[in-house]
Amino acid sequence: MLKDKIGMVLGVANKRSIAWACAEKCIEQGARLAFTYQGERLERNLTKLTADMDDTLVIPCDVTNQEEVDTAFETVATKYRKLDFLIHSIAFAPREALEGSYLDTSREAFLTALEISAYSLPQVARAAAPLMKDGGSIVTMSYYGAEKVVENYNVMGVAKAALESSTRYLASDLGPTGIRVNAISAGPINTLSARGVKNMSGFLKHVEERSPLRRNVEVTEVGNTALFLVSGLSSGITGETIYVDCGFNIMGI
Ligand code: NDP
Repeated sequence: MLKDKIGMVLGVANKRSIAWACAEKCIEQGARLAFTYQGERLERNLTKLTADMDDTLVIPCDVTNQEEVDTAFETVATKYRKLDFLIHSIAFAPREALEGSYLDTSREAFLTALEISAYSLPQVARAAAPLMKDGGSIVTMSYYGAEKVVENYNVMGVAKAALESSTRYLASDLGPTGIRVNAISAGPINTLSARGVKNMSGFLKHVEERSPLRRNVEVTEVGNTALFLVSGLSSGITGETIYVDCGFNIMGI
């Protein structure tokens, strides 16, 4: 399905990362991938994870460092000469902003969360677009807290709202060049970032009890949806936020 396709995957921290599940699905379908990481510790993780993959790149790309972002895309351009898809799976907010009251969010925490978790999407889309000469697909990861109040999710919910809105604006800007932009709104999954949100285990239990499918989503199910969105099977879909949450978002009382 993705033979001869080149993808770039941002946000693999370890093998539990949503980005890793997406990458595995794309590789199964023949894609070649460039992975980016933030910090030396993650470089070691990624180098191990990708050790037996063919024709891959592992490059630094801290989105708060524009020079590093520029160099990452130059490296991809030099090696592959093109890009077919990009999976943006990064987010961050200071831990103290992910508990208590949203009212108390500091200016610094707000700006950091919005910069890393939302601004980074147009930032990398701008760098990716010139490489997507035959059209392309950009996929990002959101969460239900963008739309409804989720206890402790706080500023990250505000950042995800900006991310989902960015998805629509970018889809409109890039659509004429054949580039599609979509978000996946995943149900809660126990990853490194998720552990930063207070009472994550409470979220998981709540979803298991209330979602139509009476369970939490598997990370591989998010990977499958990312594969669908980067493949030609979704060629008519852009600007959407697709829920992969066992149906939790449809429930009222
Ligand atoms: P992970 O911790 O595995 O992945 C998050 C990634 O973001 C890490 O690789 C992290 O690197 C990276 N990151 C943070 N700051 C920066 C930065 N400045 N520059 C580049 N990368 C950075 O967690 P998930 O897989 O859970 O998260 C992936 C995405 O999915 C996020 O957008 C998250 O909000 C979203 N999501 C997660 C859900 C969940 O329940 N897990 C549910 C719905 C959406 P580092 O470790 O160095 O900080």
